[in-house]
Amino acid sequence: MLAEKTYTYNRLQDIQSDIKAGILSVEDLVNFYLHQIQQFSDLNAFIEVFTEESIQQAKSIQEKITNGTAGKLAGMVIGIKDNISYKGHKVSASSKMLENYTAVYSATVIERLLKEDAIIIGRLNCDEFAMGASNETSYYGPVKNFIDPRKVSGGSSGGSAVAVQANMCLASLGTDTGGSIRQPAAFCGVIGIKPTYSRVSRYGVIAYASSFDQVGPITRSVEDAAILLEVISGRDENDNISSGKEVPQYSELSKAAPKKIAYIEETLNAEGLDPEIKKNIKEQIAHLKAIGHTVEPVSFEYLDYVVATYYILTTAEASSNLSRYDGIHYGHRSEKAFDLESTYKLSRSEGFGDEVKRRIMLGTFVLSAGYYDAYYARAQKVRRLIKDKIEHILKGYDFILTPTTPSPAFDIGAKITDPLESYLADIFTVIASLTGLPAISVPCGTTETGLPLGIQIMGRSFEEDKLLSFSKDYLEK
Ligand code: GLN
Repeated sequence: MLAEKTYTYNRLQDIQSDIKAGILSVEDLVNFYLHQIQQFSDLNAFIEVFTEESIQQAKSIQEKITNGTAGKLAGMVIGIKDNISYKGHKVSASSKMLENYTAVYSATVIERLLKEDAIIIGRLNCDEFAMGASNETSYYGPVKNFIDPRKVSGGSSGGSAVAVQANMCLASLGTDTGGSIRQPAAFCGVIGIKPTYSRVSRYGVIAYASSFDQVGPITRSVEDAAILLEVISGRDENDNISSGKEVPQYSELSKAAPKKIAYIEETLNAEGLDPEIKKNIKEQIAHLKAIGHTVEPVSFEYLDYVVATYYILTTAEASSNLSRYDGIHYGHRSEKAFDLESTYKLSRSEGFGDEVKRRIMLGTFVLSAGYYDAYYARAQKVRRLIKDKIEHILKGYDFILTPTTPSPAFDIGAKITDPLESYLADIFTVIASLTGLPAISVPCGTTETGLPLGIQIMGRSFEEDKLLSFSKDYLEK
């Protein structure tokens, strides 16, 4: 397939104005993205491309635009992480367990995208059941970073980040339990926001750790993150913890006034922090001061506990959530099974990969009688302490700033044999996950060898609007 034209759009509004002006058609745009997907298929970002369907949708949306009946997202071509259900399409959580599973209903976020005329172009590779930070636990293999294909994409929404990075679609949806939107966004030089817990419905999203999971956008511009968040947020009767709070017009980004920003001193002294990242963050702090913000160090004495707390709680929740994949209710059924017990054992042994098994075992252990109080119950208490402390800091400051990740994208294969080292990569992102607060990762330069770096900005509960306005301003200055 040969695309006739090349397009590099970073913002939906530019696409929409070119369509209005007659310089661009939705079909040409879709064809261009399909061509990109084919050209960069080695990056392994897409698991499936909805080719015919997107071309059909392009035609009907072009017509709607001509008639003046198109929705807010007309002209947006978007990819979805392979753990978000889209009726009639496969959704596998990048696991052999669900390799042949077809969604019987659509997630609420998908319904909302379609209602506003977004075109869903395909499903995107991720870590198996979203467990990972490098996209290397996927049944379909790792996703490669477009800047340097020897490097990981980050994870778990690695396909979602690389698809946007390599201009294979304008935007994507990822999910974030402990950093899975923000980390790959940082490794790929794009924008990713994890909304406040309960801002976006989880209905139809394959559960990993339900008290953490959130869906959010990965984009090339703050404007697109804002409009996507505006569309997918809001109360949903099908997710009973989803918030009924009114959704602000995120896309009407306001001019950001000077802010009071805290940075966690311990993060800059954290063991394992890459020296280039440390240098970069110090430069960002100096820059923010120079453009009129107040930036001050604060102490957060629980930093050493966040990863352990996160992994005890999330593996506990995962062990419960993943019990439904037993070869009977859902998922892969072993051909070697001969009775009930062997069906469970063999189906789960064959269907899940190593990392998922490790977490199910760890989660089952921390919940087991005799250990529950020592691990699970204690981790719940530590979660509360962490939340109280971070909220206390946010009483005196608008935002808390940290690097998104302790290192830039690393070599594929470098960390996968050492789970502990992989888990430590989550140290900065799990803070917002444990506390339920919104956090965005924004590109903030590169290493000397050109690998992208991200800065994470955390805000108060339901203050995504402020995070977005601030980020736009920061990127422009
Ligand atoms: N790396 C973290 C984990 O493996 C976060 C994953 C996620 O946010 N889905 O749990």
